[in-house]
Amino acid sequence: MAFPFLAVRQMPRTHKLALLIGAVALPAVALAIVAALLTLRVARGVEAESARYDQYLSAMVTEAFEQELITQLRDAVVPAEGVARDGGAAPDVVRALASRSRQFEAPHFVPVDDMAGLSVLMVESQMLLYGDDPTGERAHPFAAVVLRGPTGDVVGAGGWWFNPRAFIAANLANVVRNRLSANPRTYGGIESTRHLCVQVFDGEGHEVARVREPGRTPTGRFADMTGPFEGFRVRVAPTDLAPAALASRFVAVQIALIAILAGVLLGATFISVRYIVRQIELVQAKSSFVSNITHELKTPIAVIKLAVETIEMGRFRTDGERDKYLRTIQRESDKLARLVNNILDFARLESGQQALRLGPVDVHDVISTALESFRLRLEDEGFEWRVDCPERVPLLKADALALQHCVLNLLDNAVKYSRERKEVRLIVRQRDGWVSIAVSDRGIGIAAEDQKRIFEKFARVEAGLVHTVKGAGLGLSLVDQIVRAHHGRVEVASTPGEGSIFTLILPQWVEGQDSPRDV
Ligand code: ADP
Repeated sequence: MAFPFLAVRQMPRTHKLALLIGAVALPAVALAIVAALLTLRVARGVEAESARYDQYLSAMVTEAFEQELITQLRDAVVPAEGVARDGGAAPDVVRALASRSRQFEAPHFVPVDDMAGLSVLMVESQMLLYGDDPTGERAHPFAAVVLRGPTGDVVGAGGWWFNPRAFIAANLANVVRNRLSANPRTYGGIESTRHLCVQVFDGEGHEVARVREPGRTPTGRFADMTGPFEGFRVRVAPTDLAPAALASRFVAVQIALIAILAGVLLGATFISVRYIVRQIELVQAKSSFVSNITHELKTPIAVIKLAVETIEMGRFRTDGERDKYLRTIQRESDKLARLVNNILDFARLESGQQALRLGPVDVHDVISTALESFRLRLEDEGFEWRVDCPERVPLLKADALALQHCVLNLLDNAVKYSRERKEVRLIVRQRDGWVSIAVSDRGIGIAAEDQKRIFEKFARVEAGLVHTVKGAGLGLSLVDQIVRAHHGRVEVASTPGEGSIFTLILPQWVEGQDSPRDV
C-alpha cells in the first residue's frame, strides 16, 4: 500500500492538485449532474402525468355537459311527461313543453315512429336523444328525452332545439364548479385540484367560454366534445398557480441552484486543495530547510576551524599562505554572518518586529559597501564583476542596512548559481521617481514557472545545479519582504542556461516630502 502513496508524494504539484480535485470534486460534480437529470426526469414525468390528467378531465367536461343538458331537459319536460302519462294528445304535450323552455326554443314532440332519425346517448342510465332539425330550418341541434304513456310504453320524445354555444357559455362555470366536483369519478372533483383553467372553443378555434385564466404556456392539447356538443373542443390547462406549472417553472431554478452548488463546491475544493498542497509543500520545505541550514552552518564552521588550526599549529610555509587562510576565515565568517542575519531578519520580519528606518540613502554607498564585503568571495571564486552606475543618481528613500542586505543576498545567489561563466553585473538606473538596482549573472537561470515561486519562504528550485547547491530558501523571500516594506518591488528576468537579472525597484527620496521614519 505504500507504493501508491509514495507515487502521489513524488508527483509534481500540479498533478497532485489535479488528482485531489479529481478525487474530491469530480464525484460531487457527477452527483450534481445525476441530481439535475433526475430533477428533469421527475419534471417531465409530472408534466406528462398532468397532461394525461388534463386530457381525462376534458372528456369529463363533455360528459358533465351532457349530464347538465339532460338534467335541464328533464326538469323542463316534467309537465309534458304528466300530459303523456294522462294519455294526452301530441298538441297538448307540445303545449306543456312550451311552458318550461328557458334555455331552449321551439318545443317539439317527436312521435315514436319518427324517433329513428335521432341519435341516442346514455348518460348515467338516462337516455338523451339528439339530432338535426328534422325540418332543416334551424342550424341548431335538437335534444329530447323519452316520454312514456299511461302504460309505461314509449310514446315519443319531447324536447327542443338548443344553441350549444349559448348553452356552453351559460353553463360552463356551473358545470365545472358544481357538476364536475360533485362527480367522484373525476379524480376527487376538478375543484379539488383548483388552479385548473377550462376553456371551450368552437370549430373555428374561437373561445366560447372559460373558467379561470390559463397559464403562460398552456398545453396545446384539446379534447373534442361529442354528442349534441360535437364540433366544440375543450382544453383543460394548468393556471400559473397549478402544481404542474410551478413544477416546470421551478425545475429550471432547481437545476440552476444545483449548478451553483456544484460550482461553489468545486471552487471550495479547489481552494482548499491548493491550500492543503501548499501546506504540505511548506512542511516539506521546512524539513529540507532544517537539513539545508545545518549543512550551511556546518560547512563554514568546519572550514574556519581547519584554517584556525592550521595557523595555530604553524602549518603554513609562507606569509602569503597564512594570509590565504586568514582570508578563508574572513570569507567563511562573512558567509556565516550573512546566513545568521538572514535567519534573524526573517524571524523578525515574520513576527512583525523588524523596523525599517527609511531615510535618504546614496545608492553609491549601498553598492560600494556591499561590494566591499563581498569582494573577497568574488575574487576567491574567480568572478569578474562590473558596476554600471551613473555618476548622479537621486537619493533613495530607504533603510541603508536593509538595502545592503538585499544586494548582498542577490550577489550571493549570483555566485552560488553560476557555473563556467562567472560574470556579475550591478546596474543602477533611474526613472520617473524610481531607482532600480539590478544584479545580473550568466548562471543557470530559472525556468519561467519557478520565477514567482522562488520569492516564497523556503522555496527552492529542486532541479539541475540548484539541487547540489545548499541553501535555506530564505534569501529572496527576505529581499522581497524588505523591498515591499520600502514600497518598492523586485522583478526577475531569467532564461534557463543563460542567466538571471534580479532588479530592486525603489522610490527615490523627495526632499522635504518626508522625514526619516520607521515602517
Ligand atoms: P537559497 O539560495 O538559499 O536557496 P533564495 O531564496 O535566495 O534561497 O533563492 C531561492 C531559489 O531561487 C534558489 O534555491 C534558486 O533555485 C533560485 N535562485 C535564486 N537566485 C538565483 C540566480 N541568480 N540564478 C538561478 N537561480 C536562482
